[in-house]
Amino acid sequence: MSAQSRHPIPLLTPQLPERALLQPYLDRIDASRHYSNFGPLNQALEERLTAFFAPHSAAGVQVVTTSSATTGLELALASLELPPGSRVLVPALTFVATLTAVLRAGLVPVVCDIDPENWLLTPEIAESAITSTGALAALPVAAFGQPVNTLAWSQFQQRHGVKVVVDAAGAFGSQWVAASDIAVVFSMHATKTLAAGEGGLVVGGNAAQLASIRQMSNFGINLDPAAQLPVGMLTRVGSNAKLSEYHAAVAHASLDGWQAQAAQRREIYADYRQTLQSRCGDKLQWQAGETLAAPTLFCVRLPDAERRERLEHQAGSLGVSTRRWYQPLLHQHGAAVQPLVVLATPNAEKVAAGLIGLPFSCFINHTQIKYIADIVYSAVTNISNTHY
Ligand SMILES: *Cc1c(COP(=O)(O)O)cnc(C)c1O
Repeated sequence: MSAQSRHPIPLLTPQLPERALLQPYLDRIDASRHYSNFGPLNQALEERLTAFFAPHSAAGVQVVTTSSATTGLELALASLELPPGSRVLVPALTFVATLTAVLRAGLVPVVCDIDPENWLLTPEIAESAITSTGALAALPVAAFGQPVNTLAWSQFQQRHGVKVVVDAAGAFGSQWVAASDIAVVFSMHATKTLAAGEGGLVVGGNAAQLASIRQMSNFGINLDPAAQLPVGMLTRVGSNAKLSEYHAAVAHASLDGWQAQAAQRREIYADYRQTLQSRCGDKLQWQAGETLAAPTLFCVRLPDAERRERLEHQAGSLGVSTRRWYQPLLHQHGAAVQPLVVLATPNAEKVAAGLIGLPFSCFINHTQIKYIADIVYSAVTNISNTHY
């Protein structure tokens, strides 16, 4: 083992465009003197992103940027205009923002189980949950970047009259928006695949819904001269969730390098998984589903909580960072996080017990990957770490 590989290995190392790549976009801001409020860079970004999604959407989609995926989710839920306190299905295994968005939209989350293979809330699980809870909406999540089936969710929406919004915050590039009647929300946080530092986008085929989200991202002020109420009048209670021109500049530069970075992430992920699999074999379980276009996390399930704890301990003592992604489960946070409706979540609990996030970034090299695979192997097979 080389000395190099023993250096601490961080969990994530974001890769954002360097200063020189931002320059042409910053020059455009200097020239336009627009800094926010749907400025020219934001407008151009929405156009580029619309073109990005168009080939995968038969009916055509629009894009509205927001200050984060979390604010995008809050506004997308608000755009459904459900009665206050309406119930919304969410999966137990997701990032906390899925939950906070529902609560801040004045709605009540119903924490649901996940599929044991792909670790997602599926329309099949949601179907039985709406019967037992009377939920009026569902917020499925592309957990760990694994895309959800928007066409299946669209059918679910039509069949049951239950509204659907998708949290695809970490799935840009893997998640497409094939259905034309569902809003899908993505994040441009520094740790996600298309990074702007902070930022979000809502993609959908319902023009009225997208217009409502845009208006609510600007406090709720009407800017449409053709609308019933005068321009400048508040027609809905919104927030300030606009993307600044500076964040749009970073997003443009990220988009310029996206294909190259995505290819690099795919290549590293494939090597990593192959290395772990050949070292540890059937001791490890993986999320079922598609090969991701641009992975940002590396998550694997160990056989049990005991071996995970052993891995955490050994990795920690060797400077290799790990994280129990999406844990605690949504209903296991503080008592003040309420109101919640909680259904039985045996699959989520089983999957979560062995789940571990290992270091992953564009900067991790094969030597480090082999080093991590050795640590995982020793933890799952109970070899003492004095071996190192
Ligand atoms: C990152 C993430 C969010 C939050 O995105 P922000 O842009 O940071 O607000 C929400 N949901 C999921 C599943 C995420 O991974």
